[in-house]
Amino acid sequence: MNIADYKGIWVFAEQRNGELQKVALELLGEGRKLADKLGVKLTALLLGENVGNIADVLGKHGADEVLVADNPLLKNYTTDGYTKVICDLVHERKPGILFIGASFIGRDLGPRVSARLQTGLTADCTALDVEAESGTLLATRPAFGGNLMATIACEAHRPQMATVRPGVFAKVETENADYKVENVEVKLEASDIRTEVVEVFKEVKDIVDISEAKVIVSGGRGVGSAENFAKLQELADELGGAVAGSRAAIEAGWIDKSLQVGQTGKTVRPNIYIACGISGAIQHVAGMQDSDVIIAINKDESAPIMSVADYAIVGDLNKVLPEFIAQVKEL
Ligand code: FAD
Repeated sequence: MNIADYKGIWVFAEQRNGELQKVALELLGEGRKLADKLGVKLTALLLGENVGNIADVLGKHGADEVLVADNPLLKNYTTDGYTKVICDLVHERKPGILFIGASFIGRDLGPRVSARLQTGLTADCTALDVEAESGTLLATRPAFGGNLMATIACEAHRPQMATVRPGVFAKVETENADYKVENVEVKLEASDIRTEVVEVFKEVKDIVDISEAKVIVSGGRGVGSAENFAKLQELADELGGAVAGSRAAIEAGWIDKSLQVGQTGKTVRPNIYIACGISGAIQHVAGMQDSDVIIAINKDESAPIMSVADYAIVGDLNKVLPEFIAQVKEL
């Protein structure tokens, strides 16, 4: 392998039913910065059936080039189909870096592609950088259960690959986008795919994706019980938002694990984050510090959360929350 032959940054533009996943646009936002630092092209890779109409969205979010692989066999995600198409394109065009969102699909696809290409993969990253001279990717991820952050460089192989957590980067919209859309040839036979998607059905349970919520009312140990979370839910409902929590609230069994914010939970960046009875440990703050407006309610004015909050309300939740809800209802 001649490393110098591999240039440019690719982003896998995940779509489901023709709808682009937010993480794809976030990766383009960060990829744009890294591509400018290296002076290389940023390419979005779009696979699916009849998805050409969403290529423009990728161009308007920072891609210089959109490669569209349109084929009926790519309608539904399959590990075999998507892996083959991506690996064929990588062999043909030799990108230096390939980013994939750490979604359910990305966590399946990334390792398969990297194994097939015999290159490394840094999974579930929370920060990315590049060395301008060498083109080396520096991918940072929590290690040892989140006790330390490891920055990993795969210097010997190309492309350098990383899957990246949804919610950690901001998407960037460009006004005067100048991008190229190219339909690529798809060399895929039905026999290349060893699985068949028989039926696609939606999960019946209401799953709240807190990384998408505009308003989050988050509770910690100070909430005191599962029953008290009903008050947080009431406030969230009034504000059209979602309930989340600290690890202490999850470990107490008051709310579901999928609602944990922080280093070992989800990264969120809502317009408003209301932290109720949360002390503001570094591992929690890591997951919410990029929220636009942070409101903290805590009885301890010296709790660390108060120093990251835009509005700090010192008081007992049992008194502050009912008043807060009453005031919101009057708006
Ligand atoms: P506490 O720290 O106990 O704080 C409770 C707060 O509630 C206090 O500030 C108190 O003053 C206030 N309070 C109590 N009663 C009231 C009341 N009636 N009214 C108002 N305020 C009140 N944590 C996460 O959240 N997310 C993570 O992803 C995460 N990952 C971790 C990874 C590792 C490797 C480790 C070691 C820890 C991790 N933690 C994580 C745990 C983290 O260190 C803290 O222990 C945790 O965030 C504390 O949760 P808390 O703020 O709810 O509880």
